[in-house]
Amino acid sequence: MGSNFFGLLTKQLALVVFFVCFAWLITGSLMVSVSLVFILYVLWNSLVFSAIRASIDSDLKIEWLGTRGFYSELYSAIQGLIKQSWGYRKRFISLISEVNALAGSLPDAGIIVNNRLIIEWCNKASKELLGINSAHDIGQRIDQLLRYPAFLEYLQNPKADYLDIEDQANKRHLRFRVIRYNKDKRLISARDVTQQVKTNEIRQDFIANASHELKTPLTTIKGYSELIVDSNFNPQELNSLATVITAQADRMNKIIEDLLTLSKIESRSVSIDKEEIDVTELLLQVVRAFEYLVDRPETKIDSTSTRMLLADEQLLHSIVENLLSNAYRYTPKEGGIILRSRDYEHETIIEVIDSGLGIPNNEISRITERFYRIDKGRHSGTGGTGLGLAIVKHSLDLLGGTLEIESEINRGSIFRCRFPIKNR
Ligand code: ADP
Repeated sequence: MGSNFFGLLTKQLALVVFFVCFAWLITGSLMVSVSLVFILYVLWNSLVFSAIRASIDSDLKIEWLGTRGFYSELYSAIQGLIKQSWGYRKRFISLISEVNALAGSLPDAGIIVNNRLIIEWCNKASKELLGINSAHDIGQRIDQLLRYPAFLEYLQNPKADYLDIEDQANKRHLRFRVIRYNKDKRLISARDVTQQVKTNEIRQDFIANASHELKTPLTTIKGYSELIVDSNFNPQELNSLATVITAQADRMNKIIEDLLTLSKIESRSVSIDKEEIDVTELLLQVVRAFEYLVDRPETKIDSTSTRMLLADEQLLHSIVENLLSNAYRYTPKEGGIILRSRDYEHETIIEVIDSGLGIPNNEISRITERFYRIDKGRHSGTGGTGLGLAIVKHSLDLLGGTLEIESEINRGSIFRCRFPIKNR
């Protein structure tokens, strides 16, 4: 580059000297020829530079400069630089649009505000989540658009990593974060955490319920044990106290067993051995297992199923057993219970029908929740754990089936298990 440049400069100088000598020869005056060549040189340079300028603006090539010589080299160097800068510009534009597309596809809302809380940028999700629209809200103050007082306080003084706000109007929970990424700019991000909050609540409720359920029999056991230690009972009295203690211990055991079963089913860590099951035979077996119950309501089996159902026998047995056990516990002995089964083209349906207490309409959707009970009064002495229907629901899930409940208070309930039949 250096030698090329000096070569061209030398050529230029040689040309100037040649023209000066030539003009001197013609005019006979060195002063005149130097002035003449200087004026012509300046004029030529102005012409070439104006042409180059015009060519840059209009994007037209200057053909008359040719491909050789000082100006032509200068021209092509300038053109090279322009091309390069277009390349950078193109890459820059595509990078910006990529960043925009990325920010637009983020599920979290992102808003940039300056020190005066004026919105300078926001992504697509901020419209869906917070109603802040890049089309008309840029330039507005964020505190005019988001008016949650806790958020505004947090924005001024973000002490914690994030702030959760319950948006009661839209029945959701939002998690805000504020990141100051330079002296006068802040990025506000917001995310819908409704599901997370709900899961947390369910977990906390579950822990509280499980502790309560276990604490009740434990308190009885402790009270009776203290009574035995502190007092002098005769063997008969001791025997009846021990019976109560054993019954409460059994209850605790049942709760823990049901919890373990539920946890295994929910985490899908039970092994499922699908085999062809004769539904009518299975219903008979389940009813037989309750034969020991005295004073149970009359129980009938009404099954026309002839199809062999492909399912895990143990799970299916426990589903029907749980439903029948509930029917016995919530139906007076004068009532009746029917276990019905039917084959349809695309499904087999097993129903446990009772004429018992029934379930209030507004509670039907909740009774499969863990530990959910309709009212504590009706449960005294039923011996339930509050986990039976949760086990039924999750077991059905595992088998690809669904549970439907129909009920009318004081008339009875139908628990319907639907098993879709897949083409084998
Ligand atoms: P539990 O061990 O308390 O019976 P479940 O999960 O089996 O727990 O049932 C949840 C609640 O649903 C019961 O506590 C009861 O209030 C109600 N329930 C279940 N089955 C019946 C039924 N056949 N008739 C009336 N209520 C029922």
